[in-house]
Amino acid sequence: MQSERVLEIFKEITCIPRESGHEGPITDWLCDWASDHSLQFKRDATGNVLIIREAAPGKENVPTIVLQAHQDMVCEKVAGFPFDFRRDPIPYVIKDGWMIAENTTLGADDGIGIAACLGLLEDTAPTGKIECLFTISEETGMDGAEALEPGFFDGKTLINLDSEDEGQLFIGCAGGLNTNIKFKVRRTELPEGFKLLKCTIAGGIGGHSGDDINKGRANAVQLLSRFLYGQLGDGFRLISIDGGGKPNAIARECQAIVAVPKPDTLRNAFTDFATDILEEFHATDPGLTFECTPATSELGALGKNAGEKIITSLFTAPHGVKAMSQDIPGLVQTSTNLASVRTGKSVVEIVTSQRSSSKSERRAMAAKVRANFEVAGAVVKHMYEYPGWNPNVNSHVLKRTVEAYRKLFSTEPEVKAIHAGLECGLFLQKFPGLDMISFGPTLRGVHAPGEKLELASMDKFVALLDEVVRNFE
Ligand SMILES: [Zn+2]
Repeated sequence: MQSERVLEIFKEITCIPRESGHEGPITDWLCDWASDHSLQFKRDATGNVLIIREAAPGKENVPTIVLQAHQDMVCEKVAGFPFDFRRDPIPYVIKDGWMIAENTTLGADDGIGIAACLGLLEDTAPTGKIECLFTISEETGMDGAEALEPGFFDGKTLINLDSEDEGQLFIGCAGGLNTNIKFKVRRTELPEGFKLLKCTIAGGIGGHSGDDINKGRANAVQLLSRFLYGQLGDGFRLISIDGGGKPNAIARECQAIVAVPKPDTLRNAFTDFATDILEEFHATDPGLTFECTPATSELGALGKNAGEKIITSLFTAPHGVKAMSQDIPGLVQTSTNLASVRTGKSVVEIVTSQRSSSKSERRAMAAKVRANFEVAGAVVKHMYEYPGWNPNVNSHVLKRTVEAYRKLFSTEPEVKAIHAGLECGLFLQKFPGLDMISFGPTLRGVHAPGEKLELASMDKFVALLDEVVRNFE
């Protein structure tokens, strides 16, 4: 299989619409491609496609390899750029060794994976049986992988072609779930003489709750709860606390409206607190801001007891890294994110999310979060759980791939896992014991206009895949 040929196929793919949720054109194209090449194929009700090439004579005893890529792409363009992802071919240029879509996403994530599969299928080198699996809607919730029927493919070895850094081999990912908390609250009259203040912490760096959870960054919800916990007592009533955003983001800002009889005392304490926190986070979050101003609110105050329970449980809620991998240096194994808090008239809602490549650790972490809030009287629900892929450093396909890499490039690949989700976790759930690896060429700026593919890395990626598949046993 030649890299030039794979690139040619990819260029054809850039002309076929394949927005997540609207993969019809690419799904049809893949089925037609299989027919044209006299290859068996099947398509399930969801739109997942499997193209099969039987073993070459003499290769019948070689274990079947499943090659996998996703059909869909993220469709983003520069504001105002006249372009219709449901119709138009992706405009790209080749510049300084990169293939770039300047005004749109390129869709090399994961069009390159598809192209590499087809390149291998049309190649004449004899191999064992190959099954190419093309899933749908990976980018919007892994719907294809989720809906995959057990038994859709036969192979016990799977190579996922949806990674973005040549020279890195991925052998694990985290699973996750959300744990959502609800406090039902009643409003009461403010005691005589209390004044309202709004305290705001903003300007945190934030980041992704998987990739960035080990960077020690400030969580604004956690920090503001910590401050307010120090103020609890007879002279304190909570009106509202609101902060954070998506479940998979670290909270960058949080604000609370509180009522106190002596606003100056609280304001001074907040100033001192700000000094301490800026010192604690001088390296990670130098842009943190702290503001405390007079406020008004339509809502009455929460009862003293209710306000204390909410602030205390937010303060004691776990956040951050719980455990590092014992197999892969530097990999976060288990973490939790105190993502957001929102106050309504009669309810305070808190969203948290837990991740781990280990199911038992993930569930233990979620149970700990549950216990933390249940003891304070909240109703807690776990939801949206998806499975992880626990790294197996003794994996056969890993061993074969590392050997191929050394032979081809005389250097060591990096073996890694990620603390975020991949389709592989779902495959493992449906096909227990599946031996998997993930690798790909170097892509930059994926999911945004300007996405680009490094052509030199493409040559190495194609050579590696070819070497692994041709010599697999
Ligand atoms: Zn992808």
